[in-house]
Amino acid sequence: MLEPSQDLFRVTLLGTGAPPPVLDRFGPSTLVEVGAEKFIFDAGRGALQRLHQLQIPFSNITGVFLTHHHSDHVVGFTDLWLTGWIGRPWGKREVPLKVWGPEGTKQMMEHLPKAFFVDIRVRSKSYPSNGVKLEAEEIKEGLVYDKDGVKVSTFEVDHGGEELPAFGYRVDYRGRSAVLSGDTTFNENLIRHAKETDLLVHEVTAAAGNAAENAAQLKRIASNHTTPEQAGDVFVRVAPRLAVYNHLLLFGGARAEDLLPATRKNYSGPLLVGEDLMSIEIGETVQAHHFGK
Ligand SMILES: [Zn+2]
Repeated sequence: MLEPSQDLFRVTLLGTGAPPPVLDRFGPSTLVEVGAEKFIFDAGRGALQRLHQLQIPFSNITGVFLTHHHSDHVVGFTDLWLTGWIGRPWGKREVPLKVWGPEGTKQMMEHLPKAFFVDIRVRSKSYPSNGVKLEAEEIKEGLVYDKDGVKVSTFEVDHGGEELPAFGYRVDYRGRSAVLSGDTTFNENLIRHAKETDLLVHEVTAAAGNAAENAAQLKRIASNHTTPEQAGDVFVRVAPRLAVYNHLLLFGGARAEDLLPATRKNYSGPLLVGEDLMSIEIGETVQAHHFGK
């Protein structure tokens, strides 16, 4: 029988930012605590700092899922992996780390230990060498994790071209679900896989001012990402119990507070703009909390 705490289904936004190296929004990364498992989806800049703010040691993490290989989604990985191995309160990892991701994941996980060869050689004298091992699995659309009632499945999204395989994820547990869009423009496949999910965490982009005048840049952004107006259409069709924006890509003078009014043109349901360390409990209700409140 599961402990009561194993009924947990909580999504915490570790980082809601994008490439800009700002302090208030770290790189994209999301913690999903579900049943007895703790997964990290994407490992942007600062993921380990945010995890440490939650006082969750990296030893407690079941594994890492990557949506795609843009660097802002993976530059925090080495920090999680290596700093999360050493035997301090934030680390203490003793078992190999499982990493799921698109094509390129195996190559990355094979080469990272080579890049950090000297550190691993030295620290292996002090810490269990199993804790620094990486086990990579490349994903295709479908079920990728299924244990103790926790199911994680992936679906293809459209991040602007076949040269960049990109996925969203859906987590199901005890009749509840959360969907993470990954990076995508408006995408029918996402809508299909997210239908009536409890929580939809979706990326968003907006441009204003000078950036809006740069037609070439706007065109590129529009083919890779989702505008608030498009996201509104997605939310209407998915009808989640709660939609939350993350991975805010704001160009020019665009501001986070403009995202809701822009979305409201098309969608009037439950919607929040995510912030770092916002957590969302999925239970009888779908309830968001600010960090420390
Ligand atoms: Zn991307």
